[in-house]
Amino acid sequence: MTAARPCPMPTAHKRLMDCHAMWHAMSAAYMQPDSFRMHLNSLIQGLRNVTFMVQKQKAELVGYEDWYTRFVKDVTPRPLMRWAVKSRNRIVKESDLELLSEAKIRWVADWSTKEERKFTFPPRMSSHEMLAAIFSNPGNPRVGVVSVSRRWVDKALPDYELLHATREVFIELSRLLHAGHTAAGANSCALDEREPACVTPVISVQPLACMDINSSLRQEHLDLEGGFGIDEVVHRIDRNDRQVELAKQRYGTFAVTASSPIEAAPQLMEAARMVLQKDKHYMPMMWSYRGGKIVDMISPTFFDQNGKYLMFHRLADRVETLRADGIVLAIEAWWAPDDKRDAQGLPIPPREREDRQEVLHVAAATRAGERLSLLAPFSRAKSGEISFGAIISDPADEDMSQLGPFMPIFERWKQMDERGEQ
Ligand SMILES: [Zn+2]
Ligand SMILES: [Zn+2]
Repeated sequence: MTAARPCPMPTAHKRLMDCHAMWHAMSAAYMQPDSFRMHLNSLIQGLRNVTFMVQKQKAELVGYEDWYTRFVKDVTPRPLMRWAVKSRNRIVKESDLELLSEAKIRWVADWSTKEERKFTFPPRMSSHEMLAAIFSNPGNPRVGVVSVSRRWVDKALPDYELLHATREVFIELSRLLHAGHTAAGANSCALDEREPACVTPVISVQPLACMDINSSLRQEHLDLEGGFGIDEVVHRIDRNDRQVELAKQRYGTFAVTASSPIEAAPQLMEAARMVLQKDKHYMPMMWSYRGGKIVDMISPTFFDQNGKYLMFHRLADRVETLRADGIVLAIEAWWAPDDKRDAQGLPIPPREREDRQEVLHVAAATRAGERLSLLAPFSRAKSGEISFGAIISDPADEDMSQLGPFMPIFERWKQMDERGEQ
């Protein structure tokens, strides 16, 4: 343990915390066009002020030439950072940004069939009115699930929603200040905590989970076949020692020691088998990893196939928000050992086949492209007793027959790669 050193750049550090608080204020005002614009203007100026404050102090900062030069060379040329500087100049000297209120509409018919389109709508239009406008065009498909996400974009940066864009700039500035603090040997700054409570002096080089760029508050979902809205309920699991102890008493001792999702998968399968044996059912679980650590555990639940499609698109949202680089899913599923086709030559899903079999399925994947699918077929005796068959391991799953539900996540990783989000 090294002794705490005072904050080397308290003004810049406080301004960074201001930006965190302002980002939340902007997010909270999302549905009010003028408040949103007001908070956006403050935030964009606040972000710029962080670098101004660092520059002002440069004579006193340890290793400034080193870490600040790296920032100027590697980060400031990025289009998003240039947009932030230009926008700040525009807001201060000329006018507001040209804000567009959009809705992104996503149709999902099955794992491989989906469509996404963006429409411009007045900000106060209700989702029902938007959908009515969209479906007045008979060319728009009426199958599967449709999700409506509201978004604000700047005309000069049409590909980024603005909470997303400003969060990226915030992450880069956090990394800059983190480098400056590390060079000075500062590890805890005695600055006051703020409102909301997540605004602490801790400088994270990773995206903060509280800065949710895909909040359910801005999305609505409709089952087009059933014609009903789908409400989202998230079951987040907080790990605590007491629960771990209770689980050990009930199920026996198991340990998940691996730090990579691929290596953790067999251990999680072992744990899942113990739970299923004891409880006779298994609650689906998904673990998100980042940098070799579990950053999120949730239990994804859905009641029908459309709900399942939607669930996995929302999990992709969560992977993006957390910038997770690996996932493991453990779930009870239907499985069939071979490929059977219907009259049109399409594969018949195992859930619709008579010879279907119950399996525990553990699937793991990483942003770097590793894949693993493990299946443990099992049967239930009349007594309820469960007996497992041998585990079937498929490292590649080339035809995506097992990893189909991960497709929205794979696609999201690809988009994150394309945008250079590390
Ligand atoms: Zn500090
Ligand atoms: Zn926060």
